[in-house]
Amino acid sequence: MNELTSALAAALPDGRVLTDPDVVDSYARDRTFVPPGRPLGVVLAQSRDDVVATMRWATQHRVPVVPRGAGTGLAGGATAVDGCVVLSLARMTAIRELSPQDEIAVVEPGVITADLDRAAREHGLMYAPDPSSYEISTIGGNLATNAGGLRCVKYGVTRDSTLGLEVVLADGRVLNTGRRTMKGVAGYDLTGLFVGSEGTLGVITAATVRLRRAPGELATVAAEFTSLRDAAAAVSAIVAAGCQPSMLELMDRTTLQAIDDWKNIGLEPSTRAMLIAQAEGSADEMAALCGAASFVAVSSTPEEAAELIGVRRLAYQAKERLGQCLVEDVCVPRSVLPEMITAIEEAAARHGVLIATVAHAGDGNVHPVFVFDRGLAEPPDEVWAAADEVFRAALDLGGTLTGEHGVGLLKKRWLGLETGPVAAELHRGIKQVFDPLNILNPGKAI
Ligand SMILES: Cc1cc2nc3c(=O)[nH]c(=O)nc-3n(C[C@H](O)[C@H](O)[C@H](O)COP(=O)(O)OP(=O)(O)OC[C@H]3O[C@@H](n4cnc5c(N)ncnc54)[C@H](O)[C@@H]3O)c2cc1C
Repeated sequence: MNELTSALAAALPDGRVLTDPDVVDSYARDRTFVPPGRPLGVVLAQSRDDVVATMRWATQHRVPVVPRGAGTGLAGGATAVDGCVVLSLARMTAIRELSPQDEIAVVEPGVITADLDRAAREHGLMYAPDPSSYEISTIGGNLATNAGGLRCVKYGVTRDSTLGLEVVLADGRVLNTGRRTMKGVAGYDLTGLFVGSEGTLGVITAATVRLRRAPGELATVAAEFTSLRDAAAAVSAIVAAGCQPSMLELMDRTTLQAIDDWKNIGLEPSTRAMLIAQAEGSADEMAALCGAASFVAVSSTPEEAAELIGVRRLAYQAKERLGQCLVEDVCVPRSVLPEMITAIEEAAARHGVLIATVAHAGDGNVHPVFVFDRGLAEPPDEVWAAADEVFRAALDLGGTLTGEHGVGLLKKRWLGLETGPVAAELHRGIKQVFDPLNILNPGKAI
């Protein structure tokens, strides 16, 4: 340890600070290829007090702090910067309270998302936000990125399930935002501001989240289409008919092929896209609305439903088998989903890039995954050129650069196209209020 890290270790209980370079390296990046800086060390926080002590030390010594959950982020948000301390919240795993009467839970940031959902289900409730990574990501990371997920088409994103937060500010002060009630409008919505702020405004040490009644039996439909556009049209039809799906997911041929090569799902040669839809009640209406489908499967048991949805949850790992992946995350109004998908296909063809696409189609949230050679340190120029076209197409269609993964480091160079100069100036002003020394996750998100 050097003088700085020794002072940090002295301010914390034993064993909280790691400086072994190999161990520190393993905390330096998230799931993106972005090359990390070299951290001074890692703090394994186990309590709010540990976070307070770390932030006081960081303010005193002007040391950057990079908050970290499970490191499953796809935007470089938890990527270390040179000379920083990585502040891991992964060991703060208490569910402090779960109240079936009030339908809320108070949780620490290191709780794994699916664990909270399982705890809620013991009381007939559920925690709705379910990113595909919900078995490996943390609530803190979900809050900081305002994570979405499969069920968001019906229940909204993480912000829609967040009532209040406990946050440690850059100088170590503790701030409580929001409330335990379903309604409340006193003061500015600081809770909403922190959700999605990517660790740049404060460190979340607890959250009061909303739980919902777990739904009854869910009907699930998997439909195969010979054209991606027909699948996208079925999405519009299902929503327009008022089926209120709690899941509406789309996969293209490249994705399905990768899954089939891995798990042999019996993919037909003519299939170009698959739609997976889930709703309470009967599946018949949704199945009928997939009129152009070449094949429709309807689940009649929860096990069959889990199998159909399981195919979708395999998508990311299946694509990683093809090469390195730049996972993108544009979101457009649902009505222009076919145009967005066409723009992705055209960009892929124009630049000779392999793009595999999945979409939380009910939200218009499209994940084109740009696959490139494993031997390369970062995406080649043609991938960035295709990505640039995809981003611009999303903005032209009235959409956004990122529906749920965040800006992190990866999308900073395009952010100005979406926000414009006035919003950019206000963002900088807000950052200055919360973090005047610019020590919290510097260089990320804004
Ligand atoms: C297979 C796979 C599937 C995925 N599917 C989805 C999906 O469906 N939807 C989706 O939204 N995302 C998805 N993701 C991306 C990722 O899982 C989410 O962004 C998730 O919210 C990150 O959680 P984490 O705990 O890993 O956070 P990290 O990656 O560790 O951190 C993410 C950001 O949050 C900040 N942060 C972490 N904890 C705190 C805290 N306590 N206080 C303040 N800031 C903090 C970090 O500084 C960083 O900026 C997927 C990723 C993978 C690998």
